[in-house]
Amino acid sequence: MNKIIIVTGASRGIGREIAKTLAREGNIVIANYNKSEQLAIELKEELQKENIKIDIFKADVSNRKEAKILVEFVLNKYKRIDVLINNAGIAQSKLFTDFTDEDWNKIINTNLYSAFCMTQEVLPNMIHNKSGNIINISSVHGIVGASCETVYAISKAGMDAMTKSLAKELGPSNIRVNSIAPGLIDTDMNKNLTENDLKILKEEIPLGKVGKVTDIAKCVKWLVEDEFTTGQIISLNGGWTII
Ligand code: NAD
Repeated sequence: MNKIIIVTGASRGIGREIAKTLAREGNIVIANYNKSEQLAIELKEELQKENIKIDIFKADVSNRKEAKILVEFVLNKYKRIDVLINNAGIAQSKLFTDFTDEDWNKIINTNLYSAFCMTQEVLPNMIHNKSGNIINISSVHGIVGASCETVYAISKAGMDAMTKSLAKELGPSNIRVNSIAPGLIDTDMNKNLTENDLKILKEEIPLGKVGKVTDIAKCVKWLVEDEFTTGQIISLNGGWTII
């Protein structure tokens, strides 16, 4: 496919699988990480064994300056950006009344402001090229809400609103913007769930199972290749919510 693709938060979990899948398809992938340098190096080495090159780049994408430096690195090296995947995110579970301003700032900045910054930084190049593709990894919680995860849900609903608004604004520039809203996916983000929690959750999911990182990566691959989908919030959740 030979596209230049940035994946944020790609050292582990869903982002890592997206980076691997797209690199194996022949794309040039820039895998961003924030703190997990060792995991990022391992990702690079794993792909090197398959004779696949990948760039890893450290940046806290919730920091405007670092987001800018990441995009400048890619443009200096490859001269264009075809796809941006805003995947970096954190979750926090608390009663609404217990959330502090610090919690709010951390979650909103990491999940939403990062997508705002990264998208603003890549857009001049995409608009110039009259071609671009932005994929936001939001969440089922942004669609239906989540008890004790209100701030996370707000951040993801904000992402989906950005997706729909930008699809309208950028369609004339041939830039597509979509969200993938995963349901429960087996990653470290859910490592605190007990066996019993998982059993109860699976009972709520019509397909009766937790999703895999590969389920999300396959959908991303499809969106990277597709040319007519924009402004959509794609629910990948085993039927957990059907609206
Ligand atoms: P994860 O915790 O394994 O991965 C998140 C990644 O984001 C980590 O590599 C982390 O280092 C990175 N990150 C966090 N803050 C960053 C920052 N400021 N700059 C750069 N990178 C940063 O979790 P995951 O399950 O792989 O989550 C990936 C995305 O999918 C997240 O946005 C998450 O909200 C979303 N999601 C996950 C699930 C799920 O069930 N796992 C469900 C719905 C949505």
